[in-house]
Amino acid sequence: MQEKYSGSHPNIWYPFTPIKGAPTPLKVTSGNGAWIELAGGKQLLDLISSWWVNVLGHARPEIADAIHGQAKCLEHVIFAGFTHEPAEKLAETLAGKLPGRLNRVFYSDNGSSAVEIAIKQAWQYWANLGEKRESFICFDHGYHGDTFGAMSVSARSLFTDVYKELLFPVESVPYPVTWRGDDEIQEKEAAALGRLTQLLEQNPKRYAAIIIEPLVQGAGGMRMCRPEFLQALRRLSHEHDTLLIFDEVMTGFGRTGAWFACERAGIEPDVIALAKGLTGGFLPLAATVCSDSVYEAFASADPAKTLFHGHSYTANPLGCAAANATLKLLEQNEYAFKNLEQEHIEHLAKLEDHPKLDKIRVTGTIAAMDIKTADRPGYLNQVSAIIKRKAFEQGLLLRPLGNVLYLMPPYCITRDELAQAYRGIAAILDEL
Ligand SMILES: *Cc1c(COP(=O)(O)O)cnc(C)c1O
Repeated sequence: MQEKYSGSHPNIWYPFTPIKGAPTPLKVTSGNGAWIELAGGKQLLDLISSWWVNVLGHARPEIADAIHGQAKCLEHVIFAGFTHEPAEKLAETLAGKLPGRLNRVFYSDNGSSAVEIAIKQAWQYWANLGEKRESFICFDHGYHGDTFGAMSVSARSLFTDVYKELLFPVESVPYPVTWRGDDEIQEKEAAALGRLTQLLEQNPKRYAAIIIEPLVQGAGGMRMCRPEFLQALRRLSHEHDTLLIFDEVMTGFGRTGAWFACERAGIEPDVIALAKGLTGGFLPLAATVCSDSVYEAFASADPAKTLFHGHSYTANPLGCAAANATLKLLEQNEYAFKNLEQEHIEHLAKLEDHPKLDKIRVTGTIAAMDIKTADRPGYLNQVSAIIKRKAFEQGLLLRPLGNVLYLMPPYCITRDELAQAYRGIAAILDEL
């Protein structure tokens, strides 16, 4: 079945894909709204927003037009010593949307780089103040990207194992995961905060920053925590004088039902990393936004205090134009991401007692659940491939993380389409 639509190519090395044994990739010819179309005409309902980037639906004409208009005017200019309107406008909008003093936008072009920059900013912040900090605190099961700094602050896992000697050492603490009907969350939060306090008290000036995926850990298995935990984390990092970095590469731009997870939690981190949804899935662009006080530590004519980082495509005007169009559309359609949580909850209520399901959870536009299997839980769990195949047969694009099944649709998904997705999932679960 899949072979017929296959797009296997002799000259491409595909990411995150074993060279042997993996199904050949499906060739996609077009996209429209929440749907993608394969060569041969089959339609798939995109329930993962194409690797979590497509917040507004495929091939949105408004974003396409913005890119077209910008391309005819200025496609690129070096961003050192030069600036341009689309980048300035985007920075103003981001600073306006983000809480408090998160006002300085540093551009790059993917989430991993946005995280690298956040790490460098936090590290050099202390160096510029004349302090030597030695390490970072991060969270079990965290995922922050595939470059070396980002891997270092991510959980040690199958993804990073082969490079472990090359990663810098960090301290990792438990992420207090919760789900619907969980009655032990207070104990889990207390344990995580206890461990954090212990680390910070034992070595008062050791950590440059704490980095976390706020509200939802993505690739680690759609693990969710409460806003209350993030509020306590903010208090703790203030008390112990360390920076707090929010990796909102996945949670940003409406994913959690608010513009940003930090907004939903009602707190202000010192640095925030943004990418994925920023351009509506059209072009690679990322931003690391820091507070005025972090920026001030770099405000010097001394070259040793300069942040020596930059990519050739930094603040690419086409990317900025796509982002400006995306933010405008999000502004006009806030209800689309604000309403999805309630819709998920209504559908999940019907699945609540399904014998194959455990730990059902929702945050904003993201719904997730663990599938009970005899196999070991985790990324390599075999149920993933089975669900992927059955979903494909039903016209649904689902890509479980091991035994974690999740839905993260573009916000344009209609009530009927979401109902279709949940009907399909119920049928798949019944067959397992
Ligand atoms: C995807 C992701 C990244 C990495 O972003 P890329 O654009 O894939 O490099 C970093 N952090 C989080 C939380 C992510 O989900």
